[in-house]
Amino acid sequence: MAVFKGALDDVDDPDALAGIVAHEIAHVRRRHVTEALIRQLGIEALISMFAGTTVSNAEQLLSLSYSRAHETEADSDAIAMLGRASISPGPTGNLFLKLAKEQGEEPGLTGEFLDSHPLSRTRAKRFIDSVRKETTYRHVLSEEDFNVLRRMCDPKDGISK
Ligand SMILES: [Zn+2]
Repeated sequence: MAVFKGALDDVDDPDALAGIVAHEIAHVRRRHVTEALIRQLGIEALISMFAGTTVSNAEQLLSLSYSRAHETEADSDAIAMLGRASISPGPTGNLFLKLAKEQGEEPGLTGEFLDSHPLSRTRAKRFIDSVRKETTYRHVLSEEDFNVLRRMCDPKDGISK
């Protein structure tokens, strides 16, 4: 799993980034990645990919798209993971709502994410409706720590020179 710099630039709230990461972890845990690879590339291509005989692995992984059922499952898991970590699902919902609106337009944010994870207002609303008023949530990172993380990933300024 990797987080692209574009996501760090465009996601304002680290809690929403946590939601996206939780969603991706769910895809991996539930083997959606393997299933999507088999569906889209066929079993032979998958075997040659893991045998290292094809070179465009990263490209193929980026062009994967998940089924609606897998998206729903990954969202459920992400909401549960955020809940266990006492992180509000609200910021992820707000981000998904923003992305759902941008869909179809020229997406400014993480084009790959939108391609592989078609978003809808219904999906966004699920996260927003999962916010429990009686729960005390914590932030995954302070604003200061989030800025440090962004600087670390900045090629002009950080460690990835
Ligand atoms: Zn997804």
